Parts: sequence; C-alpha cells; structure tokens
Amino acid sequence: MIYLGAHLSSSKGFYKMGRDAMAIGANTFQCFVRNPRGARAKALDPADLEKLRALMAREGFGPVVAHAPYIMNPCSKDAGIRELAGRMMAEDLELMEHLPGNYYNFHPGSHVGQGVEEGCRQIAAMLDQVISSELKTTVLLETMAGKGSEIGGRFEELRRILDLAACGDRLGVCLDTCHVSDGGYDIVGGLDGVLEEFDRVVGLSRLKAVHINDSMNPPGSRKDRHALIGEGTIGTEAIVRIITHPALAGLPFLLETPTDDKGHGEEIAMLRAAIGG
Ligand code: FE
Ligand code: FE
Ligand code: ZN
Repeated sequence: MIYLGAHLSSSKGFYKMGRDAMAIGANTFQCFVRNPRGARAKALDPADLEKLRALMAREGFGPVVAHAPYIMNPCSKDAGIRELAGRMMAEDLELMEHLPGNYYNFHPGSHVGQGVEEGCRQIAAMLDQVISSELKTTVLLETMAGKGSEIGGRFEELRRILDLAACGDRLGVCLDTCHVSDGGYDIVGGLDGVLEEFDRVVGLSRLKAVHINDSMNPPGSRKDRHALIGEGTIGTEAIVRIITHPALAGLPFLLETPTDDKGHGEEIAMLRAAIGG
C-alpha cells in the first residue's frame, strides 16, 4: 500500500478534511491546524477529531501530517518571536493529542545572522520546552532548500538539532523533494546515494514523511519554488522512483504542488497510474 495524498486547501473541520482527501483519491493528507500565517488556534473539537480517527481507521489511511504555520521561527533573533513559536507549537500539539500516532511537521527556522550553531541551539531549546515524554505525536523537522539563513538545507544541520535536543530521540524528519534538490542533493540522478547519505547523517529510521514536489529551479539553486509534478527540474520519473523506493516503503507521500485539491487529485491519479495502482 502506497500512502499518497496532498496538502489540502481548505481546513473546515478535520472529518471534512478526511472526506476531502478521499474525494481526491488520497489515503493520507497534510493540513494546517491554524491559519497558515499564524494567528490563533482554532477551537478544539474532540468529537470532530474522533470522527476523523474513525474514518482513517475504516478507510486504511496512513498517518497524516499537520504542518506548522510558516511564520513560526524558533531561532529568530527576537525573543518574543521565539516564545510565540513555542506557544503555537504547544497549542498545536495539544490539539494533535486527540489524533494520536500522527505527525506535526515544522520548518526549523531562519537564524537571521545568529549563525547555524546558535540557531540549532534555540530550536532544540524550544523543542525541549514543548515536547513531553508522553506526547503521542511525532514532531518532524523538514529538510529545507537553504534559502537565506534557513536551517535544514544540509542533513548535518538536522542532525545537530537532534543531538542538541534532550528529546532528540523522539523527533523525526520530513524530506521535501523540491527542497533537497534545491539544496543541492541529486535526487534525480543519484537517489540511492542521497538516501545513503541521509541514512549515514540522520538515520533512515527517522524519516517519517515525504513531500513530493517538482522544482522550478535547478539543483543547488536554494530557491524553494515548487512546480507541478512533471513540470519542473525533477520530473515524473524521479518522483515515481521515490514513491516506489523500498527504503521509503510505508511512508506518507504528500503533494504540495501549486494547484488546488482537484489538481492534486489529478496528480495522484497520474502517479497511481504510473506505478500501476
Ligand atoms: Fe513545509
Ligand atoms: Fe514541504
Ligand atoms: Zn517549499
């Protein structure tokens, strides 16, 4: 079973998102649990989350991924912004506890001139503040394109956060194909080598989810502009090799390509046809 899904555009209730995912032929999905630009958490509705849990079990869904808001920056120079990041993550994780066994993914952050080491320390400190040993959600660090002062463009930077955080053993990683390609990893011509490097530096057992996006830019561009599958520099064949790679079996693969739910449904159908189911 390959778990294929997409970042859903609407987020009007969790059960509704499960239905929306089914409507586009998905058996996993990603969503924001609050306004993507940050703002306030939505009112927590345990009954709605329980309905989604039942739907996921009944329909054989893979794990789903909640995505942290983009404005979250746990390694900002501004202490207030760092505190806000911790507060948002704590609130989001509280909500996710009603959907145990799933994932919460975030962009590690931008160190804005403080340096990678200091940034990694601040990120690790926030994680230790919000992640308790009883948490039923696995928090994932996303691999980034390395744009500006973004942390996570190199696997070593994620490793550093895992090492610095006391809760490091309980963290996972989400690999974004556009980001790693833009970061300079050759996933088109040398996928096995990239996965070996990931395994050596981070550990493949840490890899819990994959964002499947094509890229508008060449490898190493550090740009982070997603393209539709087959319309960028990665291409459909490379994406198919990723979703069928034995080392990645069982992971949720999530589209974040620049289109709507309907477009994602077409990409899912195209990928399912390409892999023969
Ligand atoms: Fe992301
Ligand atoms: Fe992503
Ligand atoms: Zn991106």
